[in-house]
Amino acid sequence: MKFEIVTIFPDFFRGPLDFGIVRKSRESGLIEILVHDLRTFTSDKHRTVDDRPFGGGEGMVLKPEPLFQCVESMDIAPRESRLERTAKESVVLLSPQGQMFTQSLAQELAALDRMVLICGRYEGVDERVAEGLADREISIGDFVLSGGELGAAVIIDTITRLLPGALGNEASAVQESFTAGQKLDADGPDSTCSSGGLLDYPHYTRPAEFRGMAVPEVLMGGNHEQVRGWRRRKALEKTSQYRPDLLNSESLSKEDKKLLADIAAKKKN
Ligand code: SAM
Repeated sequence: MKFEIVTIFPDFFRGPLDFGIVRKSRESGLIEILVHDLRTFTSDKHRTVDDRPFGGGEGMVLKPEPLFQCVESMDIAPRESRLERTAKESVVLLSPQGQMFTQSLAQELAALDRMVLICGRYEGVDERVAEGLADREISIGDFVLSGGELGAAVIIDTITRLLPGALGNEASAVQESFTAGQKLDADGPDSTCSSGGLLDYPHYTRPAEFRGMAVPEVLMGGNHEQVRGWRRRKALEKTSQYRPDLLNSESLSKEDKKLLADIAAKKKN
């Protein structure tokens, strides 16, 4: 998959995309990342990329011309035909006003061959970029960053680890927090303890005891069924504590519902 980043700070990406799975995926050719310096697409001697907002107000706004020129310089289909085609390419504008980036959106986007990520700065980006250049606006959360660069790095990292061949163990990506759509048994989650859209269960490694904190015995007993049950219960506990919005009853098994009732009863006492 090819990622193309449009930014006024190309050096920002020296580092965040040079480690771990993303680095290995670049080296193996699984992904390619190109960074485009927006100032290269200006035509004045000051290489101006921003201007004051019409109507007044604080701050500066990224001008449309360099952004259109930059994206149009890439060998990418014009917006209208891009939207009609098999959706193998997408131009994304990073924006706090966009669609929320979630694991399921990452899974959808991982099917693309190519993604262009436009990083805003200042007060934002001239709206005509959203109207006439980008296919979609994506937000990485309900907070305001200084620029889209961190968002682009988050999106690239998340999507890369979903690409077949990126992780050493393919099962890792399906057992994680938020990963919905896993098939559950009639009366319990499958033997991999896949999250089924919940938060992940807690993990422990050696030593078995650290500063008075012991690893739960059940994890060391070798009984896989008990381990599975314990993990599911912990995933449900964490999810009901921090993200009750993820407890969608359709993806819960009978066993999950019983565990949740038990967790709620214990909370009350
Ligand atoms: N005035 C804008 C608002 O209130 O929504 C905020 C602009 S922000 C300071 C500058 C740029 O950072 C945005 O154009 C966008 O590209 C990026 N950005 C900020 N927060 C973001 C978020 N939560 N998700 C994605 N991009 C974000």
